[in-house]
This record gives sequence, structure tokens and C-alpha cells, in this order.
Amino acid sequence: MTRQTAIEHISTYFDEGRFQADLADLVAYETESQNPEQAPELERYLIQAMSPRLTGLGFETHLHDNPAPGAGPILVAQRHEGDDLPTVLIYGHGDVIRAQTDQWRDGLSPFRLTEEGDRLYGRGTADNKGQHLINLAGLEAVLKIRGKLGFNCKVVIETGEETGSPGLHVFFEQHRDELRADVLIASDGPRLQPETPTMFMGSRGGTSFDLVVDLREGAHHSGNWGGLLADPAMILAQALSTITDKRGQIRIPEWRPDSLTDEIRTALRDLPIESSDGPAIDLDWGEKSLTPTERAYGWNSFAILAMKSGVPEAPVNAISAHARATCQLRFVVGTDPDDVLPALRRHLDAHGFQTVQIEQHDRGFFPATRLNPDHPWVSFVAASLERTAGKAPHVLPNLAGSLPNDAFADILGLPTIWIPHSYRSCSQHAPNEHVLKPVCRDALQLMAGVFWDIGAGGSPG
Ligand SMILES: [Zn+2]
Repeated sequence: MTRQTAIEHISTYFDEGRFQADLADLVAYETESQNPEQAPELERYLIQAMSPRLTGLGFETHLHDNPAPGAGPILVAQRHEGDDLPTVLIYGHGDVIRAQTDQWRDGLSPFRLTEEGDRLYGRGTADNKGQHLINLAGLEAVLKIRGKLGFNCKVVIETGEETGSPGLHVFFEQHRDELRADVLIASDGPRLQPETPTMFMGSRGGTSFDLVVDLREGAHHSGNWGGLLADPAMILAQALSTITDKRGQIRIPEWRPDSLTDEIRTALRDLPIESSDGPAIDLDWGEKSLTPTERAYGWNSFAILAMKSGVPEAPVNAISAHARATCQLRFVVGTDPDDVLPALRRHLDAHGFQTVQIEQHDRGFFPATRLNPDHPWVSFVAASLERTAGKAPHVLPNLAGSLPNDAFADILGLPTIWIPHSYRSCSQHAPNEHVLKPVCRDALQLMAGVFWDIGAGGSPG
């Protein structure tokens, strides 16, 4: 009954093809949350795929309706071993994005797991079925070898993550007691590099909005009216040009975070930012005094996602009446989220752009979260991963992208630790989604190790 036995046990689970078979079962559920016709699949996934697995591990399971009308159900499972033991909350999402069936390469099909070389293809392999399966298998291995976990465990599987987790925050507020725990340990997203374990402890926030210049009814002939009518596209372009300088450095003081401490800089110092699997990054873009890693994980970035005036597909000789730009600010902790748009309003007014209106998007807001890299749970989990992998993990204070992590950090008040099991070229949210077999095998070992170590006592909880 040793840590090593648990790791060998889970390696065999992979080597005998049982992980692949289990993943194939999960992938076969067509759990597209963006497709209302597949709503019954969401419930079926929780009742038929998740509940029996968790019951088999000695969990009590409860299927809850989502407090948001029309949104998919939420499964909560608990295994209680002792009042004095720490409690770990595990989270995953059973829904996937649209299948995009006709765009997958020949020989692949989104809801059929296909093994090819080092890859396992299928919708949800990376996002998120493969990831929560790995974590449940980690629990299974510890239970099998130790006979108990050595800690209390709660599992939440939602089915609406790909539509912005509707109802999840309200659900957590309603079930705060039931979900009480000492730490969140969950998995989603990619590792920084496939061969090195990664941990992140929060995510950047984001807010999306349109800037609109709406001057009059309809377009007017540019020969007759050019020089007489104000041009909304020009006004919008000038207004946008005051938000950043020509290399994208943010000029609105309230949009510049005050949280890039020496401690965060030290944590980010050795992390890789470039990888072979994406476009080359522009070293002369973004905040000049920062490293590229600090720009992505320790700073805010402003983007113009789309812009339009007139009819670009069929331009005519006319002064347009309207111009619109869809914009986004990604921000880290250390930016007042409630002041992002008011600060923009003050800035535009101060530059004489009263005609530029700000339209906030209904569902375009995510708060930022972060746990300091010196938090005891971070050190504990990092040490466990290092022990199993034989090398230190990459530790990120927060992800550059966004997750509903505030539901755990702010509503449940938990330290949040994410251990991603995918890699950056996994094509999540695109055709040909896949995971790498060596990363899955490695991740299974890591999670068996983490759960073994928590149950061995000495964890911060
Ligand atoms: Zn996703």
C-alpha cells in the first residue's frame, strides 16, 4: 500500500486501454450545450455516465435542476470519510461545444473516439471529458490501493460551461453549505508545454462592449456631402487611437493594473510563452517594459475584435451614418472591474469624444481571480506534482484566458488550483479536437499522486 503502487495501478489502467475505452463511452454522449435539441443528452451524461461511476467510488450523488431556466442540470456528489479530514472539491463540465461534424477530417467523427498514433480524437476529449475522467480515475486508484481516500471529497459536474455556465453562480450561492470545502482541485485547458505539468490558480477577467458612433439616418452621397457631414468611421478610429498607442500599450490609467508585484514577476520569470504550435509572437507589441510572459499573465490587454462602417462587402460612394467596433479588455486582479467602463467614458469625454457611445454586452463579463504563488495549497500540490513527474511544474498565478473560477474563489471562498491535462494544439472549440496519449498517461499518474498525498495527511486543509 504505497504511493508508487497507486501510480502503477493507474498506469496499468491506461496501458490496458481501459482509460481509452472509458473516454470513448463519455465522448459518445452528444452533449452539445449550444444546441437546444441535445438538452436530453446533458441529463443522460450525468445520470448514465457520471452517477454510476461516482456511486461506485462510494459517493452519494444528487442531480439538481439548474436555477437558470432552460440550462442543463448540475450533479453534486459527496464522499465523507471524517469530520477532521480536509475536503477537496473537484469540478468538471460534461457539455461540449458544437460538434461541427462536417468540418472534421476524413476518418474522424466528433462523437466516436478515434485512436491515431499518439492522439485520441473526439469532441470533449480535451474539453472537458478527458480531464474530469482523469481526475475521477485518480480518486479510483487511491481508493483501490489505500481502501479509502484519506480526505473528504465533493464533485460538481455542470453541463453549461460552453454557454457561459448559466446558473452556476446562483447554484453555488444556494448550496454554499453543501459545497463547503478546503480547496478546489480541477482540470481544464492546456499545459504551457505538453511535456511539463502546469498549475494555474485563477484566470484573467474580461469585459466586452461595443463603441458606437451613430450620427444620422442612412448614408449620403460622398460627392454631394463629403466635407459637410461628419464621418462616423473617422471619429471612431480617432477615439480608438486614444485608448492605446501604436504598439497597443494601454493609455487609460485605470486600465493599468497595480498587481504586478515582485512576487508575481518572480513566479512568471521562467515560464515559457512561445511554443511551436501557434503563430510567432510580436515582441514589439504590448507593454514595452514587460516581458511577453508578464504581458499575457500579469497585465491587461485591449483588443478590437471587429469593426464596421458602411458595407465593406459592397462599398458605395457615401458618407456612412454609423460605425461600430466590438472591443474587449482582458484584465488581471488589480483592476477595478466596476470602473472599467466608467473609466473609459471619462477618458473618451476628456478627449472630446462625447459622440462615441459605449454599449456593454449582456454576457461579456468575467471577473478576474488569482491565488498567490506562495499559498500553502500551491506549494503542497506543486511538490506533489514534482515528486511524480521528476521535475517542477510550470506555476501560473492565473490563466490568460477566462474560466468561471470566481464561482469557486469568490462565492465558495476556496483556494483554487487547476491542473490542466491538455495541450495548446488540442483543437478544443474546433474540428479534430484531441488529446495526447502520453499527456493523459502522465496526468493520470500526477492525479493519483496528488490525491494520494492529500490523503496521507500534512496537507494545508
Ligand atoms: Zn471549452
